[in-house]
Amino acid sequence: MKDHTWTELTPRLLAVPLGATEQHGPHLPFTVDTEIAVELCESLARQREDVTVAPPLPYGSSGEHAGFPGTLSIGQEATETVLVELVRSADVFAGVILVCAHGGNGEPLYRAVAKLRYEGRKVRAWMPSGPSDDSHAGRTETSVMLALRPESVRLDRLEAGNTRPLPELINPLRDGGVRAVSGNGVLGDPRGATADEGREILHGWGKSLLNAVAALATDVML
Ligand SMILES: [Zn+2]
Repeated sequence: MKDHTWTELTPRLLAVPLGATEQHGPHLPFTVDTEIAVELCESLARQREDVTVAPPLPYGSSGEHAGFPGTLSIGQEATETVLVELVRSADVFAGVILVCAHGGNGEPLYRAVAKLRYEGRKVRAWMPSGPSDDSHAGRTETSVMLALRPESVRLDRLEAGNTRPLPELINPLRDGGVRAVSGNGVLGDPRGATADEGREILHGWGKSLLNAVAALATDVML
């Protein structure tokens, strides 16, 4: 939308990047999730000319990272409300795809989408997936940031965090947040991350997102 005025808008598919502002270990910036969501939406728009990209939502539900300074969170309830109201206001578009690069937004996101679809709105959510022992600021996100914005990665501060699979950590995580299971804020091991791997991961996510949007487009035409 940054390149259009209201008179130039055609009722197309709207892609909304959903991010977060939260700690990503000692080596990555707070804006990782937002930057990844924006890149995925923009690459989608490069492949489908019926997609318009909205400005990103840079805050989400990040309470699990509150133990680290600088994390800014609006919580689950507000995230759900924002998404419901945002998509309701987007009725001029044929359909909306919410592209979310922050796992902590998952629950409010799926609740919002369920409500909106119940209301008859054409909306879908899509989230990237990765290995369960590499869920936060590990090899996956570090590789992707090396591909997107290498100067943002502090290569001299790469260190392993907690590398146990996420399902094994879920109870202490729910009770005490990320700080309780990882002193440096990393869930995974960023050492060995490369820009090439990041480009490959982005390519795979891009293909999966493209399929989700094809399904939404079919939905819209029905
Ligand atoms: Zn992240």
